[in-house]
Amino acid sequence: MKVLLLNAGSSSLKFELMEMKNEKVLIKGVCEKIGSEQSFVKWQTCEDNNVKEKDIELKSHRDAFYFIKNLIFDEALGYLKNPGDISAIGHRVVHGGKYFKSAQPIDDEVLRDIQELTELAPLHNQASLDVIFLCCEFFGRGILQVAVFDTSFYFNMPPKSYMYGIPYKYYEKYGIRKYGFHGTSHNFVSQECAKMLNRNLQDLKIISCHLGNGCSITAIDKGKAIDTSMGFTPLDGIIMGTRCGSLDSSVVTFIEEKESLLPKEVNEILNRESGLLGISGISNDDREIIKAIEKGNKRAILAHEMMDYQIIKYIGAYSAAMNGLDALIFTAGIGENQWVHRETVCENLSFMGIRIDKGVNKEKILGKTGEISDKESKIRVFVIATNEELMIARETVKCLRIKEQGE
Ligand code: AMP
Repeated sequence: MKVLLLNAGSSSLKFELMEMKNEKVLIKGVCEKIGSEQSFVKWQTCEDNNVKEKDIELKSHRDAFYFIKNLIFDEALGYLKNPGDISAIGHRVVHGGKYFKSAQPIDDEVLRDIQELTELAPLHNQASLDVIFLCCEFFGRGILQVAVFDTSFYFNMPPKSYMYGIPYKYYEKYGIRKYGFHGTSHNFVSQECAKMLNRNLQDLKIISCHLGNGCSITAIDKGKAIDTSMGFTPLDGIIMGTRCGSLDSSVVTFIEEKESLLPKEVNEILNRESGLLGISGISNDDREIIKAIEKGNKRAILAHEMMDYQIIKYIGAYSAAMNGLDALIFTAGIGENQWVHRETVCENLSFMGIRIDKGVNKEKILGKTGEISDKESKIRVFVIATNEELMIARETVKCLRIKEQGE
């Protein structure tokens, strides 16, 4: 059984074709910079680990979708002959708002709700909708399409953690509250962590640090997210590649007034010109920051110090919120590769009894999953390679089985 997974961003479209018998990725890739003249596609197949890259003008998600379609149906690869060879399609949808507490088979009602939520995630939800319609166009309306939402993992967060201290009417009128993001990733790594500990997730208090270009930290008690660092939008929390993270909201109005900017212009600054990039003035990419640190660049050093300090504070706060901690997880691009952050963060948490094996920590890079805490550590610490696509594929198959049972 083959499942196609699609993850539409505002200017990107990631894809994976997976054989579910053995959860093997047959082909995967990403169309980047859609809508610009620099658009390109990168992909790799299971037979050949070399990453192929092609510069090609992709004016829209439609162009990207049909490029992907031609690639996965390529006769020479032989993965697929006709559209019916795909059993179901799983989509990552960023915002499920108050509607979706789990993955949903897409029907007209689900489409209406995703559409309504475009107000909260304009670029992402609209891109997902466009791609869902393209799938209907090519595969026909009969194929099962499933939406897996970033926000679902946070559906049961208690109001005390998701409400903001602003007049209640704005929650009622506009749904202003914390929603949380990266839920599929936190859900996946926490499940993997329980397996590695050989314990039931229901018995564990976990903090998961998803540190990539976007960063979020989530407190997971008994398998349920009880709090998370991202908020109403993915801007909140710790500093990220280009996002500022938490901020005194007066800063926003102050800059707006001083620089005579429109709200959307300030929004752009906070989302695209801040974070590691904004502080260092060098790059949003942590690898570049590390290179600059090695040359003694003070602002690069400051950017790293800020990131680590904020991670440490969240871990402290969430341990207190859960009244304990059994396991700490690092995941995503920075979490899985940049051992320096892990070392700094863990050393600063020695008061909680966290102890890591520095040598083992340095070895856990490039997708190597494993424990980095030493035998004396009171809290187990893991590096776990996230796999949101696998999670989406499994949810899609779950929906397919339910559909088959109903027929
Ligand atoms: P993500 O958004 O999860 O793709 O993560 C992007 C961030 O992870 C960037 O800041 C990169 O510097 C960092 N990153 C990704 N891959 C590596 C790697 N192989 N080695 C070091 N850092 C990496």
